[in-house]
Amino acid sequence: MDSRLKTIYMQEELSFLHVLMDSADFNDFLTRFYLCERVSVWEARIISETRELRIELKKKREDLEAKRSQQKALLKRLDKKKRELDKKFKEAKGLLSAVEKDLRNAPRVTSRTIKGVKISCFPVARPYAYSDTWLAPRRGHRHQGCDVFAARGTPCYACVSGRVRTGYGRNAGKTIYLYGDSGDLFYYMHLNGYAVTSGHVEAGQVIGYVGDSGNARGGACHLHFEVHPDGGRAINPYPILRSIE
Ligand SMILES: [Zn+2]
Repeated sequence: MDSRLKTIYMQEELSFLHVLMDSADFNDFLTRFYLCERVSVWEARIISETRELRIELKKKREDLEAKRSQQKALLKRLDKKKRELDKKFKEAKGLLSAVEKDLRNAPRVTSRTIKGVKISCFPVARPYAYSDTWLAPRRGHRHQGCDVFAARGTPCYACVSGRVRTGYGRNAGKTIYLYGDSGDLFYYMHLNGYAVTSGHVEAGQVIGYVGDSGNARGGACHLHFEVHPDGGRAINPYPILRSIE
C-alpha cells in the first residue's frame, strides 16, 4: 500500500502535465488544473494519514507483543504456583489421612465398672476375636482368664491407669502385671514383646504386643488376660471385656 502510494506520488507531476495538456480549451484547462490540485492535496493527505496509521499500527503491535510476553511470564508464574500448591495439598492430604488413621487406631478410652472392677479401655487393638472360656479345662488347671486372639505384634493397651511390672513364666511367657490405680490387678500374658517395662502408664497407652510366648508357642497368637480385683483371686474377665468393647 505504502509503496503503491509512493509510486503514484512520484509520478504525480507527469500525470498532472498529461491531464493539463489534454485540455480542450482554457476553461477546461482551469477546471482540470483545479481538480488536479485538489487530487494531489487529497493524495498527500492520504499518504500522511497512512504513514500515521502505520506508525500507530506498529506501536499497537509492539504494545500487544509486550502484553503477550507479560501474560506468558504471568502464566508461567501461575503454573509454578499451582504446582507448588498441588504439592502442598498432597502433603496436607497425606498428613490428614495419617491423623485419621491414628484416630481410627487410637483406643477408645472411657470408663466402665463391672462387678466392682473399673476398666477404661479394651486391652487389645482391633481387629481381635475372643469368647468366654472362663474355667475351661486346661492341662492341670482351669482357665483363669480370657484369650483375645489377634495378629502377632498387635498393640496391647493399658486397660486402666496404673503401674506396670514385667515377668516371665514358662507357661505365661512374657507377661505384664498392671497394678491399677484403683487397686485391681491385670495380667497380660504370652506377649511378643514389651512397649513399657516399668513405671506408671495411662489408660490406653501401648504397653506390649500380642504374641505366642510361653506355652502358647505354636498356637494362634493371643493375649491371655486376667482380672484380679484388689489383687486377689481372678474373676471372669469376659463380661468386663464385653462392657468396654
Ligand atoms: Zn488363656
